[in-house]
Amino acid sequence: MVVSYKHEPFTDFTNPENHQQYKDALSRIRRVDLGKEYPLVIGGKRIYTDDKLESYNPSNISQLIGRVSKAKKEHVDQAMDAAYEAFKTWREWTAEERAGVLFKTAAIVRRRKHEFSAMMSYEAGKPWGQSDADTAEAIDFLEYYGRQMIELGKGKKINERSFEDNSYFYQPIGPGVTIPPWNFAFAIVCGTTVGPIVAGNPVLLKPSENTPVIAYKLIEVLEEAGLPKGVINFLPGDPGEIGDYLVDHPRTHFINFTGSRDTGTRIIERAAVVQEGQNFLKRVVAEMGGKDTIIVDDDADLDLAAESIANSAFAFQGQKCSACSRAIIHEDVYDEVLKKTVAYAEKMTVGDVATEDYFLGGVINQKQFDKIKNYIEIGKKEGELVFGGDPDDSKGYYIYPTIFGNVDPEATIMQEEIFGPVVGFAKAKNFDALLEIANNTNYGLTGAVISNNRAHLNKARYAFHVGNLYFNRGCTAAIVGYHPFGGFKMSGTNAKAGGPDYLLNFLEAKTVSEIL
Ligand code: GLU
Repeated sequence: MVVSYKHEPFTDFTNPENHQQYKDALSRIRRVDLGKEYPLVIGGKRIYTDDKLESYNPSNISQLIGRVSKAKKEHVDQAMDAAYEAFKTWREWTAEERAGVLFKTAAIVRRRKHEFSAMMSYEAGKPWGQSDADTAEAIDFLEYYGRQMIELGKGKKINERSFEDNSYFYQPIGPGVTIPPWNFAFAIVCGTTVGPIVAGNPVLLKPSENTPVIAYKLIEVLEEAGLPKGVINFLPGDPGEIGDYLVDHPRTHFINFTGSRDTGTRIIERAAVVQEGQNFLKRVVAEMGGKDTIIVDDDADLDLAAESIANSAFAFQGQKCSACSRAIIHEDVYDEVLKKTVAYAEKMTVGDVATEDYFLGGVINQKQFDKIKNYIEIGKKEGELVFGGDPDDSKGYYIYPTIFGNVDPEATIMQEEIFGPVVGFAKAKNFDALLEIANNTNYGLTGAVISNNRAHLNKARYAFHVGNLYFNRGCTAAIVGYHPFGGFKMSGTNAKAGGPDYLLNFLEAKTVSEIL
């Protein structure tokens, strides 16, 4: 019997026992795992290549996390063969059997939770609570998609007539490619991989070059839970070497991508081209960026507003597509909300999260560090630097929480995705003006309204054009099954990860009608 879905609870790190267990997990990784070599996995076989990706701790840049073999084009071809071979039998497994592998994977991850979270603290610079939520979300994807597939496996009811037997059911579309991001290094890697898999489609997984080690850990648990060989194939590598090749491959049925807008639109364009020997249309799921706004009304809980802005802007160094990078405040309460937000930011500690529970770790790599630093310089010209603003990459890629005041909503830092702990404040005269500013970006991912005015909330429900709209809370931290996640406009294809329609992206529906 499958019990109904409930999301995985988070660990309370104020409890000394939990705190100690996390420390133990960190020190175990330091003793046992750091610096290891990791292979490609193709059809269950481990393949070590000479050319390696090196993964480092963003909060302590001299600390090597692992050396991971890089795949070349020939490995993509081999993995495609393995995936097609596995597809012959994996597609015949019942929905319950496939879901069973996900439920077993969830059980293993739940038992060894801190092992995965602690690895993210090392490899992604993810603070403890954020890592713990990431692992919990991975468990949620496994539990939720397993249950969704069992439902979809029953097909749907269609109309009947006395002389006909009609049925409507779903089948997998075929092997495809998953290209997840580094920021939810376990959760999104897991969700974007096991979604297509539970639907019956073998996957070629190309993890981010920044976080290949934690992705490898997922492969190990899936295998331990009984996923047959070839259903998952692990292909870390340089995007320049294998990225386009995976997307363009005539045998790729789908590309399940989460990442930047530039890469997402490139994938959509390339996947639209029908290659020689390809006799189907490729499907693309592309979850891309955000430029997410919290608006604060004049009648609002101002402490809640400040806390929501600070947490949504700075948790995990602002490296979420859902992060708040624009705070648009009613002019009557602007000064107070800004002051209170600074007070929250002042309390946020920054350091190596692989040693202590700091609020922020380093940002992911030198390129992102330089990019964010450059936006901070732009921000200094576009607004008033109210807090933070002095990056330091001497030990780790540290960027302190940074707040700009009185920024024009059309300014660069209010329009372009920064993907760092930087938020711009602007004011407006009334609620309509707040909403108008909130909508004036090319993105439409998340947003929040802090207000006690029911009429205003009702208005925002339809007029605030984002895929995930939150009232009286922050704009990050969607929970699988409760807050299906995905945006509008240039934020992506609106696949709604963790939602009831997600698996349909990887299924095709068949109608069979027989005359009786
Ligand atoms: N689902 C995450 C959230 O609600 C964001 C995912 C992302 O950054 O890609 O915060």
